[in-house]
Amino acid sequence: MFPVEKSIPVRTVYDDLTAIQSELDKCMHCGFCMAVCPVYKTTKTESGVARGKIGVAEAVMAGNLQIDDQDVVDMLFNCLVCKSCMQNCPTKVDFGRIILALRCAVVREKGLPWVKKAIFSTLEHQGVFDLGMKTGARLSGLLFRQAGQQAIAPRASLALLGKSAGFDQNRRLPALAKKPLRDRLPDVLPVENPVARVAFFTGCSFNYLYPEVGEDLVSVLQENNIAVVIPRDQGCCGVPVLVHGDIESIRRLGRKNIDAMDNSGVDYIVTGCGSCGGAWQHDYPEIFRQDPVYGPRAEFWRSRTYDISTLLTDVTGYRIPRGQVNAVLTYHDPCHLKKVMKVSREPRQILKNIPGVIFKEMARADACCGSGGSYVLTHFKTSVAIAERKINDVNHTDADTITTGCPACMMQLSDNVHRFGRRQKSGIIFLFLPNRTAKRKRRGYSNRLILPNAKVAATFTSLQRHWKEAKAF
Ligand code: SF4
Ligand code: SF4
Repeated sequence: MFPVEKSIPVRTVYDDLTAIQSELDKCMHCGFCMAVCPVYKTTKTESGVARGKIGVAEAVMAGNLQIDDQDVVDMLFNCLVCKSCMQNCPTKVDFGRIILALRCAVVREKGLPWVKKAIFSTLEHQGVFDLGMKTGARLSGLLFRQAGQQAIAPRASLALLGKSAGFDQNRRLPALAKKPLRDRLPDVLPVENPVARVAFFTGCSFNYLYPEVGEDLVSVLQENNIAVVIPRDQGCCGVPVLVHGDIESIRRLGRKNIDAMDNSGVDYIVTGCGSCGGAWQHDYPEIFRQDPVYGPRAEFWRSRTYDISTLLTDVTGYRIPRGQVNAVLTYHDPCHLKKVMKVSREPRQILKNIPGVIFKEMARADACCGSGGSYVLTHFKTSVAIAERKINDVNHTDADTITTGCPACMMQLSDNVHRFGRRQKSGIIFLFLPNRTAKRKRRGYSNRLILPNAKVAATFTSLQRHWKEAKAF
């Protein structure tokens, strides 16, 4: 589609801290961001919120503080990059760019810690990363034990070693898949007379943690007459490295992904994760804006990338399931899905249209769940305190099932419903599981609508039973 040429280096706010000055100037220090910042609500410290961090940025720019001062670094990394503050900001300060630009400046000054460097460089070598994840899946029994049907928990040895990252024996995590999603599915999944041909950008979570859910997404697309391509050369979207200030790695990952999609010959890119979708809609166009080779290609895909819910509701249309699902559902808005991709109406529309579903809106449905990618590892206690508020809001709905549209949120909610949930008979499900039928039909479940055996939550068993009782198609 586009000529593949050698790219030239480019400069962005992530390369030059002075470029964020105009964004800093927009802040009038009103403190409205405090009302929605999950970190501030938990720590009650000014340094937790956008206003405090903007004050520090101003001091750094004025030369009154050093960016590599350890207190400054700690403060800059105590942020979920959830962008909730941006929703409540009267002057529309783009705090997301500010915080990432600051983190990139930290990395320029101090370099990446060796652990991050090692992990991030592995991400860029998909074959090595893939081998590492598969090996990890095979050896996970050494460090983790089965904790319920769908969840694993750290063994005592790991709990000792990883205490600061919350690896206590109470933790509930999904197991690494022995066979990743991209090894399970063919490159092309055709349908007769397709209404669209899409590339599924799987991201790491669906590939290695929730492959069954990824299969379900593909099934839903196929059921709705959409042909699916799974480009082999795709890799990590790069958002996890960008939030750690590693601009060079996301550039390399972005180029690789753009090349992979250019070669796929599809109409659209579909994502099931707000961070991956946000990379295509916002991060790639921004970081390649001045790149004459990759800039136009990133721009091309910006308007052709959709979360699966938007694709189905607004682009291709979708078939409302004919079966009945007797469940009381609530829905958690993933931050990057709602606040970056601006997707919140569409998942609700899909869920409410499933016959038999009673939808209960929770208070503060778009409040961050506290996951923040690696934030749950680096700031475990704050992360759990944030999640407790979320699960309390869920408890008040009387919903028996929580749905969400992001694998990282699903992981965080599954872990914390186990800690704080009261009335949920069921677990956490990905948004589209209730809407699927085709694959089950192939497996001989043609008369029933049931949930797949996704490695999702410790409390999943009753949900499966619940679903098996659902009315036949
Ligand atoms: S709400 Fe916006 S303008 Fe007000 S202090 Fe926060 S970032 Fe600054
Ligand atoms: S991005 Fe989220 S955690 Fe960070 S300052 Fe804004 S609201 Fe707080």
